[in-house]
Amino acid sequence: MDSLPIEVRNLEKSYRRKLGLSSFKAVDSLSFELHTGEILGFLGPNGAGKTTTIKCILGLLRPSKGYVRLWGDVPGSGKVRRRIGYVPENPDYEDIFTPLELLDMFASMRRLETGRKEHLELLERVNLSGWESVRLRNFSKGMRQRVSLALALQSRPDLLVMDEPTGGLDPVAMKEFRDVILEENRRGASIFLSSHLLSEVEAVCHRAIILSKGRKVAEGTMEDLLRTEDRFVITYRPPGGDASSEPLEKEVPEAVLQETIDELRREGCFIERVNPLYRSLEEVFLSATESAGGGK
Ligand code: ATP
Repeated sequence: MDSLPIEVRNLEKSYRRKLGLSSFKAVDSLSFELHTGEILGFLGPNGAGKTTTIKCILGLLRPSKGYVRLWGDVPGSGKVRRRIGYVPENPDYEDIFTPLELLDMFASMRRLETGRKEHLELLERVNLSGWESVRLRNFSKGMRQRVSLALALQSRPDLLVMDEPTGGLDPVAMKEFRDVILEENRRGASIFLSSHLLSEVEAVCHRAIILSKGRKVAEGTMEDLLRTEDRFVITYRPPGGDASSEPLEKEVPEAVLQETIDELRREGCFIERVNPLYRSLEEVFLSATESAGGGK
């Protein structure tokens, strides 16, 4: 079996403060893993340490303490680099190139076999047909992000690392990006997705981690994160009610769940279902980051 695509253990990254000699921990005692085939969401307020963590994962920054392993190997090694596709927060390619020229250049740098036909297909996949030979200086932010997605997908990576890939995209483009993420995951890629878009994370991720002030403040499957521990919703129909009308709902704490059901039955109500109460990811995010003291 393949080892973990990402393993982060007790990661700490300190930066020097702008003024003075003291340093602060942008990432502190962070441990987590990404399993093969998983889509893991990475959330946190501005300045929480997400990009710093991603740079450590990519081998662009050296941890102050702890370590990162990718399939058991050190980040940045040629062996793991070939298996990773990276979509940066702010794609920064030279304006004088066209998407096709960039794909050609990246293919030769990465020693890929891909040629013009594959590159045109890739650009079609990210919805840039007709723009293949236009210089990037004419591209909007969202179009540059599509170029960076094409470059990340070019090597059919085993791991896609995405740092806020949909910032600046319109809703249609966001949906297309999301579809590509799901297609890539179905192809077999594991995905590490840092995003401020909670609805996007909720829609595509299997699991999520919430970071605040460099520390992990929540982690779990979407089901575990969204499910409240101790509140339930009873859906029921009162006696003599019209079968075609909407059923009623009652939200109760677990401590009185059984007695409420008994009481409703005694009143002649028909209990349709009892479900745990789910919160939105936004509620989970706000409560986890607020109890950790907010953002920066
Ligand atoms: P955002 O959501 O705004 O992109 P983030 O979660 O990605 O934020 P980071 O960019 O990792 O956060 O920054 C974490 C902290 O480290 C912030 O306080 C930031 O100002 C600081 N920081 C980041 N890079 C450096 C650097 N090169 N030198 C000094 N401080 C830095």
